[in-house]
Amino acid sequence: MSKNYDEFRQRLQSDQQDIERRIANITRDLTRKASADWSEQAQERENDEVLDALGNESVIELRLIKKALERIEQGDYEVCSGCGGNIPMDRLEIMPYVDLCVQCAERQA
Ligand SMILES: [Zn+2]
Repeated sequence: MSKNYDEFRQRLQSDQQDIERRIANITRDLTRKASADWSEQAQERENDEVLDALGNESVIELRLIKKALERIEQGDYEVCSGCGGNIPMDRLEIMPYVDLCVQCAERQA
């Protein structure tokens, strides 16, 4: 039985666009700050760390989203990559980019 994942695909693709835009903004901010005057750098440093953290988070999220889109194409979207079991649709509705069932996610945490 093949299911229709169009809704998930659309959500993931629009999330992907948002994140790519966010990463582009962060990268631009970081580049601009890097060329700021030396005297401003001390107070900028704290902001940079926040931006870095946001950037890393976005990169990780983007990776998960891309993986989820691949999983949809391959037809194993609902297959847990930890145990090979089933990921409940309820879970995917809330977090469309997860690739682990609840049990495996808890084991990893
Ligand atoms: Zn599992």
